[in-house]
Amino acid sequence: MIIELKKNISKETIESLANKHRAFHIFNEDKNFLITSASVKELDNELNKHAENQWVFANDMQLSSRDFKKTTREIKLKEGLSIGGRQKNTLLIGGPCSVESEDQIRSASELLKDLSLSVLRGGCYKPRTSPYSFQGMGLEGLQLLSKMKEEFGHLIISEVRDATHVSEVIEHTDIIQIGAKAMYDQGILRACAKTQKPVMIKRGFGTTLQEFTQAAEFILSGGNSNVILCERGIRTFETKTRFTLDLCGVAWLQEHTNLPVILDPSHAMGYAYGVPALTKACMAMNVEGLIIETHPTPTLAKSDASQQLDYEAFRNLYNELQPLAECLGRQIR
Ligand code: PEP
Ligand code: MN
Repeated sequence: MIIELKKNISKETIESLANKHRAFHIFNEDKNFLITSASVKELDNELNKHAENQWVFANDMQLSSRDFKKTTREIKLKEGLSIGGRQKNTLLIGGPCSVESEDQIRSASELLKDLSLSVLRGGCYKPRTSPYSFQGMGLEGLQLLSKMKEEFGHLIISEVRDATHVSEVIEHTDIIQIGAKAMYDQGILRACAKTQKPVMIKRGFGTTLQEFTQAAEFILSGGNSNVILCERGIRTFETKTRFTLDLCGVAWLQEHTNLPVILDPSHAMGYAYGVPALTKACMAMNVEGLIIETHPTPTLAKSDASQQLDYEAFRNLYNELQPLAECLGRQIR
């Protein structure tokens, strides 16, 4: 249950109510909220006395639910740029799977600048399936991203692989990416709850929508209201494509949650040939963002070589998305 407390209740009272009811306390938009387990359906007298509003839920999808907040959350990325809320922006996030060198990440930054796009992606701590594959440049890669931010002004998104380097990732990024394999890591989720930086959680490939929203609840209930969901494909019986992009799941998330959604057709498809058409299908889902891997020479990429678009294909895709965005009343940023 979510309880909005009346104004002017002392800090001590809030703390004692939270302790007594084993509730999370968050302060958001000038209001104090307590969040208990959804199994609590009625307030006791003491809590009732302090409650301004209350919401009862069928399950622990609470803060992320449209029943709690009807409109999609607005996530402020910088002055003049938000997603969600009233702004009909769709981010076209571009950049390589992994940061590999200064030249490579500078070329991606130039590409984005040319197209007036706002967010540069690049992984530095790569959660690879094999320990023998390229594991990412680590801190050096994050420093290169920060350098690009200084030179070009792009916002940076990069992934956190485990809780040991979460503070480094928070420091060097504007949006923290929690990868599909890392989304169950409680150390990461709890650390991301303590910052106010936007967090994009990618759905694990065997994760139900309920589990996905619970990962978001860990961050929301810990005090960070800036959570974005990313669908990147789930595992099905099909092996011809890398994963299966669950657009039905996206429709469900849009109907039932108040969180902005970003779609990642690159990882779902796994092959560059399908990415442009799939991206257009994703745009038609009216989402707040698209994240596309692009590399100056995809065949030489150190990770996810088969799915990265070369820069010409990325530019063409950008141009082809424009009329779709216009149709939807959206702006590609
Ligand atoms: C990535 O974005 O490069 C990545 C590793 O994605 P995912 O966590 O979805 O596999
Ligand atoms: Mn990748």
